[in-house]
Amino acid sequence: MRYFSTRGNSPSRTFTEILLAGLAPDGGLYLPERYPRVRPEELAAWRNLPYHELAFQVLSKFIDDIPAHDLEILLARTYTPAVYRNTRPGEDPQEARQITPLRTLEPGLHILELSNGPTLAFKDMAMQLLGNLFEYALGKTGAELNILGATSGDTGSSAEYAMRGKRGIRVFMLSPHGKMSRFQTAQMFSLQDPNIYNIAVKGVFDDCQDMVKAVSNDHAFKEQYKIGTVNSINWARVAAQIVYYFKGYFAATASNDEQVSFSVPSGNFGNICAGHIARMMGLPIRQLILATNENDVLDEFFRSGAYRPRGTAQTFHTSSPSMDISKASNFERFVFDLVGRDAAMVRELWDKVDAGGAFDLAGTAHFARLREFGFVSGRSTHADRLATIRTVHEKYGVTIDTHTADGIKVGLERREPGVPLVCLETAQPCKFADTIREALGREPERPSAMQGIEDLPQRFEVMEANVQSIKHYIAQHAEHREHTA
Ligand SMILES: *Cc1c(COP(=O)(O)O)cnc(C)c1O
Repeated sequence: MRYFSTRGNSPSRTFTEILLAGLAPDGGLYLPERYPRVRPEELAAWRNLPYHELAFQVLSKFIDDIPAHDLEILLARTYTPAVYRNTRPGEDPQEARQITPLRTLEPGLHILELSNGPTLAFKDMAMQLLGNLFEYALGKTGAELNILGATSGDTGSSAEYAMRGKRGIRVFMLSPHGKMSRFQTAQMFSLQDPNIYNIAVKGVFDDCQDMVKAVSNDHAFKEQYKIGTVNSINWARVAAQIVYYFKGYFAATASNDEQVSFSVPSGNFGNICAGHIARMMGLPIRQLILATNENDVLDEFFRSGAYRPRGTAQTFHTSSPSMDISKASNFERFVFDLVGRDAAMVRELWDKVDAGGAFDLAGTAHFARLREFGFVSGRSTHADRLATIRTVHEKYGVTIDTHTADGIKVGLERREPGVPLVCLETAQPCKFADTIREALGREPERPSAMQGIEDLPQRFEVMEANVQSIKHYIAQHAEHREHTA
């Protein structure tokens, strides 16, 4: 399987070649040359497989430059009940063996738990695999990688828990000093692994991001210190997420003749992009229901055909913060398919986006095809989140997080009668305790492994918001090689 760029002007590559790469050289995103179709006999044979074997069946269709046996071992090591052990208090711990257990609220209405991994957010589903793939690929060549990132919470901790203790990899993670929740801070800063460097920057999240950008734009430095990132445009992250759409489909149906709709709390369009690919592979998905919060750029597109990314000044801080995104980095992958895989057309549209502009497909044949792709959308507000958290708690005795609440709210609005709805749960409620308290008047429960993490010793460095400081820090620590010994 070869991978090429959505903008059509980059040489094609293999899976491992793009594993450590970000954008394609022409500024586009990598996609497989075609979506492998799953035959009905395969779908039948996959129904009862354990998660890691299902992952092997799905991913080996996209990865053909890692020997099958090695890939099997990597996946078996990644998707284990010990890693995805954070089932809810009161839930049967055996459920952890499902990796992504399906919780049925009532017949035809389900939640797919994707946040039982180490950081209690769905990003672990892909990031844990990325950590093992990186270590494997670097091990083949003896190369090293210094991952530099900025985080306001979820992505940073997910990356750290995926890369901790990995040979050949260091993580330098910048976060705004004193601006994350106590829980998030404790999660990250309590890691004692010598290859993880937590850097608390005296500034806001944008300062952290600017420092990362400045380092990435210094090509000589980037080359010398093997700087890489783990952002959501990484193809391997999208690919890993395809698997749980299959898993959720099998869990919610009795036979492969049935259709299922998924509702997906969305920000950068990575999660739902994986659903789109599962559908293109032939998984019987009826609707892909995209939910946004008040930052509703994507909802606007799916309703009107106009894609109008916004700047940080017009981005609201909401109570579902991981969806506070006004420029969806994976959206280009879907639009490429929507316009019939016409790279010239994508170039034309993103020339406008990259220049700070917008595009409008209203009235075009492309927009008319949205239905063919199963997409519908909706938005949710803080008041909707509170109401949904309350209703789900009262009716079903289940506490959901704020992002999942956005998904359930929009999913219930847009679903069709007679089609089972699977709502993807993207985080656990204890990560967003303030809003749960506001909605339910009490603290959300924590999985047992998370009790008291605020009391653990913390390891971090405080730094001024300036590029020289971070460069100096990386240079100093990249030469130590303490964890490779
Ligand atoms: C990242 C994230 C999302 C958004 O997912 P995308 O793949 O960016 O669309 C939703 N909910 C939570 C909790 C997240 O961490």
